[in-house]
Amino acid sequence: MAKRIGRGGGVVVIGLGRFGKSLADELERDGVEVLAIDNDLKRVQDLAGRWTHIVQADATDAQAMEQLGVGEFSKAVIAIGHNLEASVLTAFVLRKLGVADIWAKAITTSQGEILSQVGVAHIVRPEHQMGKRVAHLVRGRMLDYIEFDDGYAIVKTKPPRDILGRTLAEAGVRQRWGVTIVGIKSEGRDFSYATPTSVVNEGDLIIVSGERRKVEAFSDQE
Ligand code: ATP
Repeated sequence: MAKRIGRGGGVVVIGLGRFGKSLADELERDGVEVLAIDNDLKRVQDLAGRWTHIVQADATDAQAMEQLGVGEFSKAVIAIGHNLEASVLTAFVLRKLGVADIWAKAITTSQGEILSQVGVAHIVRPEHQMGKRVAHLVRGRMLDYIEFDDGYAIVKTKPPRDILGRTLAEAGVRQRWGVTIVGIKSEGRDFSYATPTSVVNEGDLIIVSGERRKVEAFSDQE
């Protein structure tokens, strides 16, 4: 079973708490086959049938993971937050079985650092990242905010009054604020790509990208 789905580009999701469940749901919705693993029998029984493959097993048990064919997968997500020992041992096991691309949820900075040390390439801190994101939304005019590791951000925001009714080239958005407007949405219409000749009007929403500080400064303009 696992061999077949492993070769098909499936993903192993270990730990079926709130994070693991919504991750597995989204993967399956996108057509990705999921091998969902949790050591809590009751939880596995409650979730039976939700994904194509769900198994009760202890992910820190290398032999059990090998038997399930976990090593045939190129991607795995460790969605165990509060049990540090289990999350780190699981990372060891996945590395030992040769899973190339490992993602892991971390609750704290130190958990993230330890997981990185044992070879987890991608550390996700959902509470921390969501907290930062919501802070930006609460503070200003932004309606959505995504920040990347290298200090780059993309936001959905209301346009500053200063740029309304002129083309982006005339408004000098790049020159004056060092940001790029990549999309414009007028009421009742879909987002369209912005070009230098696009005009932003009152009531429009815009997607802005650039260095985080510059995007924030731009979005703070009334
Ligand atoms: P949430 O995503 O709900 O915030 P959490 O970060 O609090 O979850 P935990 O509750 O620590 O994470 O663990 C999530 C799931 O991982 C639980 O369902 C738990 O049974 C499972 N889990 C913990 N240890 C192991 C293990 N060794 N093997 C497999 N699953 C495990």
